[in-house]
Amino acid sequence: MAQAIAKSGTEPHLLVVEDEEALVILLRYNLEREGYQVSVAMDGDDAIYMAEAIEPDLILLDWMLPGRSGLSICREIRAHKTLKKTPIIMVTARGEERDMIQGLKNGADDYVRKPFSPTELLARVEAVLRRSDPKRDMDQLEVGGLALDRNSVEVLWEDTPVALSLTELRLLEVMMERPNHACSRDFLITRVWGENDEVDFRTVDVNIRRLRQALTESGAPDFVRTVRGIGYALKDS
Ligand code: CA
Repeated sequence: MAQAIAKSGTEPHLLVVEDEEALVILLRYNLEREGYQVSVAMDGDDAIYMAEAIEPDLILLDWMLPGRSGLSICREIRAHKTLKKTPIIMVTARGEERDMIQGLKNGADDYVRKPFSPTELLARVEAVLRRSDPKRDMDQLEVGGLALDRNSVEVLWEDTPVALSLTELRLLEVMMERPNHACSRDFLITRVWGENDEVDFRTVDVNIRRLRQALTESGAPDFVRTVRGIGYALKDS
């Protein structure tokens, strides 16, 4: 029953177009930690060449690049035969509203302003990917007879409602988005609580325990597996 989300095994491939090495390192670290595949182009010509080669799921495009501007690359991609639908997030140091509007008018899907926090960037990447790929924006997640409805915020096990707190529901949602994939406690904290210093591994364990309990109390099997030394995974059988 998990075929609707089977694609989640293929991690999205992001092309980062950025000439500042320190920023490339920071972006790569944060994006890879989130499970994205990352390729990097450091100037405009390379950007088009690499985009043609890898057909990325999303391009993070710096505005100020040597040679040609990110804006002109954005225009070229939008006019490109095979790449024109690729989502683009512009990264800009420019704060003026006029420039943002120009970016969006020229086909960027969103923008982030430097300096940005990794959390903000990841949220924007995820949102743009969701909008661009209907499979990522399913109202309903289903794994092995367990269904989560994002509109009604309801979880059903074979038509029996499973009573969950919002935190437990969010934990389940994150794991249902990537079944059979080990989610580290760090990853779960970032996705469920955000960058919150108050939350430690024990908080994750406690909420996982409650989630398991709620699932089994509603008659569902225990979908959650402990992955020793890492965290947790949701098994689809
Ligand atoms: Ca730059």
